[in-house]
Amino acid sequence: MRKVAIIGGGAAGLFCSIFLKEMLQEDVEVILLEKQDRIGKKILVTGNGKCNLSNRNMDVYYYNSPSIAHAIRHFTPELCVSTFRKWGLLIREDEEGRLYPYSEKASSVLDVFLRKIDELGIKVVTFDASHIKKCAHFLVYSKAYQLENVDVVVLATGGMVGVTRYEGYQLAQDLGHTCTPLFPTLVALKTKESLKALSGLRMKVALSVIKEQRELWKGQGEVLFKDEGLSGILALDASRYWRDSTSLSLDLVPDFRDETLRTFIQAEDEGKRLAGILPKMLALDVLKRYKQDPLHDLIYHLHHFLLHPTETYGYQNAQVTRGGIPMNEVNPVSFESLLTNNFYLIGEVLDVDGACGGYNLHFAWASAYAACIDIAHKIKGEIK
Ligand SMILES: Cc1cc2nc3c(=O)[nH]c(=O)nc-3n(C[C@H](O)[C@H](O)[C@H](O)COP(=O)(O)OP(=O)(O)OC[C@H]3O[C@@H](n4cnc5c(N)ncnc54)[C@H](O)[C@@H]3O)c2cc1C
Repeated sequence: MRKVAIIGGGAAGLFCSIFLKEMLQEDVEVILLEKQDRIGKKILVTGNGKCNLSNRNMDVYYYNSPSIAHAIRHFTPELCVSTFRKWGLLIREDEEGRLYPYSEKASSVLDVFLRKIDELGIKVVTFDASHIKKCAHFLVYSKAYQLENVDVVVLATGGMVGVTRYEGYQLAQDLGHTCTPLFPTLVALKTKESLKALSGLRMKVALSVIKEQRELWKGQGEVLFKDEGLSGILALDASRYWRDSTSLSLDLVPDFRDETLRTFIQAEDEGKRLAGILPKMLALDVLKRYKQDPLHDLIYHLHHFLLHPTETYGYQNAQVTRGGIPMNEVNPVSFESLLTNNFYLIGEVLDVDGACGGYNLHFAWASAYAACIDIAHKIKGEIK
């Protein structure tokens, strides 16, 4: 019997342990090492407690890394749905293709994982991994223990979000890997402009991320104005493209062209010029900012309401880490390390981040699936 240690009992580690044990049954001992007192804690807070676990509109476009194309082509949303159904979870889809547990409760996803872990006899150990060493086999250390004679190690330690102390990247570095710079992403952005007067306002807009007059990304959806910045799904998605000195250009009336707008701008009463177009506070803000400008410029500004982000709201408010172990250090088909045989890296510990809408959890499952297929092949054909 081969011994596989999976470090990290989050989304990727849980999926990996269950899928692997189901495939290999008695041929494998799966040990799931988790440093927190409970596994899968983060799953409970995903999707505002509803867990947006995948998306019907799956494409590499929604990720920062084209090299994951193979993984998401093979682990499709359909396979995701059927795998969860097989494990006892019904799925529902919303009008934008986002997939959720039918109960709309993230706890249902975790319950299914916990039941399968139990049913399959997967060993879960509270273990804060601090080092990995490879001789003939792997040794995985925590401060208090060491796990010996491990044939395969899967690193599924996630990223920097929601942790105070983090060794995940260090564990990969023990085996020669590097790490790209890390930033919080899918996070609200603080802006140079105070937005206090607009705080709490939700608006459907189009938003472009601009750097040196070049559009880096454009999307359409909802933003939420905060005292010091911008949140809402669209702003979170924009944060994936934000770098120093990029600006955000909001089209406040994306559905109307200039000629139409002109007829709606009431020229007589200056204070109420935009009353029929925008919520009052935003109308006043636009008029205050551009009060010197002639009418055609005002229309331009309705389509190009500029904000200048200065920083993010930080890891404590982010959903995902941008950066991590670079994809060019793993085989993109199997997620095995290119530096150390039988060492696999899956999920957010890699330099892979996706858009809002279920893409990050989908990548956690997809990379776990790819690693499982490869590990199963090796174990069945006797490990090399
Ligand atoms: C508030 C919030 C909402 C989100 N909502 C969504 C959503 O709706 N849809 C979506 O697709 N994505 C969502 N995400 C992102 C998604 O949760 C992550 O991308 C996903 O959980 C990554 O899975 P992972 O297994 O790689 O990492 P994690 O889920 O972070 O799991 C890593 C695990 O490893 C453990 N660990 C770390 N270091 C060690 C160590 N040294 N030894 C042992 N164990 C260790 C951690 O304790 C943790 O349990 C959300 C994130 C947040 C924070």
